[in-house]
Amino acid sequence: MDEYGEWHVGDPIGFGNDVGSPEVPYMGYGPKKREEKDYGASPEEIERNRKDNTSRTLRNEAERLYDAGRYSEALTLINVAIENVSTNANNWNIKGNILDHLGNYEEAIPCYDKALELNSDDVIKHNKAATLVSNAYRLFLLGDIDGSCLNLGEAFKIFDGIDDKRCLDQAWDLRAQIFIRNGDYGKAFECYKHALEAVKNDEKLRSEYMQKRDGLLKYLDNEDGTTCPKCGNLVPITDNFCIRCGARVKHEYKNKKSESRSLYSDGVTIINFDDDI
Ligand SMILES: [Zn+2]
Repeated sequence: MDEYGEWHVGDPIGFGNDVGSPEVPYMGYGPKKREEKDYGASPEEIERNRKDNTSRTLRNEAERLYDAGRYSEALTLINVAIENVSTNANNWNIKGNILDHLGNYEEAIPCYDKALELNSDDVIKHNKAATLVSNAYRLFLLGDIDGSCLNLGEAFKIFDGIDDKRCLDQAWDLRAQIFIRNGDYGKAFECYKHALEAVKNDEKLRSEYMQKRDGLLKYLDNEDGTTCPKCGNLVPITDNFCIRCGARVKHEYKNKKSESRSLYSDGVTIINFDDDI
């Protein structure tokens, strides 16, 4: 490459022989292409444009590798993209997605935070919520219940503010498992009701959560339900509303006194969630 020319994609002379070969673009040597905005720009602006272009090219390539499941290579490229432009929300969002797929949730979350500082976008918010749920599962399996609850609580807060509820059912499922661990079967039962609401269009998941929910009935004393405060109808604990008058019914769950309980009530920390379920 010299001062006057460079190689670039396409036919610089205009014979049209770059047409019709989509897989391998024709490379031509010709006068250096300048971005329109480079004319009359200061050296700093030209340098910034150059970095913007480099960052964009690397990001596109990182996305391509990400889509192909080549996460480690994608990570290398997006890191260089960020070295060039650290103020692009997409760069950080994609880095978060790559780290999430590598199972590195703890590093993915601050990437989404950086992305959200630059652009408070619902897609990025959802990505962060989904990663928080994955991290909560990871910590739960490691026995770090407090850490798991912190991540879960943050995820629920995000889900409250966005329309995309994918993964919300998994959050409820995990919260139920934490309650079960603490011997709080009534609250776990309520969690599965929420999980069911979150997957109302997915028959397979619905029956899965229904099974988990109803599996808890053997630990609960009030299987018959609660009397509707408005009309006296008996509302089964699987329902949140009275079928006769439509009143909302809050069930008071009591654990059954049974040997199976002692399996769970083994002195684990009592978890307090912010919201009332
Ligand atoms: Zn009623």
